[in-house]
Amino acid sequence: QVTIDKIAAGEVIERPASIVKELVENAVDAGADSVTVEIRDGGISLIRVMDNGCGIEGDEVRSAFLRHSTSKIRSVEDLTHISSLGFRGEALSSIAAVTRTELITKTEDAQFGTRYVIEGGKEVSLEETGAPNGTTFLVRQLFYNVPARRKFLKTPMTEAGHVQDLLMHLSLSHPEVSFHFISNGQEKLRTSGNGKLKDVIYSIYGREVAANLLDIDYEKGGLRITGYLGKPVITRGNRNFENFFVNGRYVKSPMISKSLEDAYKDFTMQHKFPFAVLHFHVNGEEIDVNVHPTKMELRFQRQQEVYGTVYEAVHRRLLEPEL
Ligand code: ADP
Ligand code: MG
Repeated sequence: QVTIDKIAAGEVIERPASIVKELVENAVDAGADSVTVEIRDGGISLIRVMDNGCGIEGDEVRSAFLRHSTSKIRSVEDLTHISSLGFRGEALSSIAAVTRTELITKTEDAQFGTRYVIEGGKEVSLEETGAPNGTTFLVRQLFYNVPARRKFLKTPMTEAGHVQDLLMHLSLSHPEVSFHFISNGQEKLRTSGNGKLKDVIYSIYGREVAANLLDIDYEKGGLRITGYLGKPVITRGNRNFENFFVNGRYVKSPMISKSLEDAYKDFTMQHKFPFAVLHFHVNGEEIDVNVHPTKMELRFQRQQEVYGTVYEAVHRRLLEPEL
C-alpha cells in the first residue's frame, strides 16, 4: 500500500502548490468560509492549511487517508471538480505518502478533536485533543523519502510563486471565502470573503486596477461570460493578467486569450494584453474533458464559436458609451 501510494503521489503531487491546491479545495468542499495557508521555504519544509469547515469525525480520520476513500459523490459531468477527475479520494493518501503530515480536526458536534500523524504513509499516532472546529493540516518535508523527486523542485522562491499564483486563482474563483496567505512569515494575500469579485481583484491587484474595471455579463448560445475587463488604460506586457475560469475552475486557453486580445486590438488599434477576470459558465457537454486534469488546459467542443462569442462580448463592452 505504501509503495502504491508513493507511485500514485507522483500523479497528483508535483510540487508544494499541488498539495496546497488539494488541501484548499478540500477546505472549500468542507464548507469553510475562511482558509489560512502558511508556507515556509516555498512549502518544501512546511505547508499549513487551516480551515473552519465541517471537520472530520474522529472515527473517520484514519480512513480519509486510504486511497480512493472519498466522502464526496461525483459524476464525470461535475465540472466544478474537473481537476480531481481520476484523482478521486487520492489526495490525502498521496500527500501522506511523500511527506510528514499532521492533521488536527474537530466537527461541531464532537466534544474533542483528533490529532493524527502519518509519515511516509505510515501511521505514527492517533489521539484525542482539544481543537477548534475545522481542520488544520501541517505538511512537512515534501519528498523527504523520495530523493529523486526532491531534485526536481525549484528554488523556494519559485515554488512560493506557484503557491501564490494558485491562491490568487482560488480567491478569484471563490470570492465568498476569505483567504489568508503567509509565506516565510510575510503576509502575501488577504481577501475579505464578502462575495464580491471586485473586492478580491482589489486585494490582489490593488487600487489602480480595481478602479479601472468594466463589468461584463454576456450570454449567447448557452455560453455565459461574467466578470471584469480592465479598461484599455491598464493593459500589460504579457498574459499574466488574463484570468479565465470555466465553471469555477481556473484554466489556460490560448484561444480565449487570442479572442480577448483581438477584440482589444480592434478597439485600441494597438496590440497589448488586457487585464481580465472572466468566468465562463457552460454546460458540461461543451467541454472536452479528455485533457489531462492537472494541466489546466481545456478545449471547448466548439472552439470557433466560443472564439466568436468572447470577441463579441468583449468588443461590445468596449464600445459601450460609459468608457
Ligand atoms: P476527495 O477530496 O476526492 O474526497 P481526498 O483524499 O482529498 O479525497 O480527501 C478524502 C476525504 O477526507 C474527503 O472526502 C473528506 O471526507 C475528508 N477531508 C479531507 N480534507 C477535509 C477538510 N479540510 N475538512 C473536512 N473533511 C476533509
Ligand atoms: Mg480532495
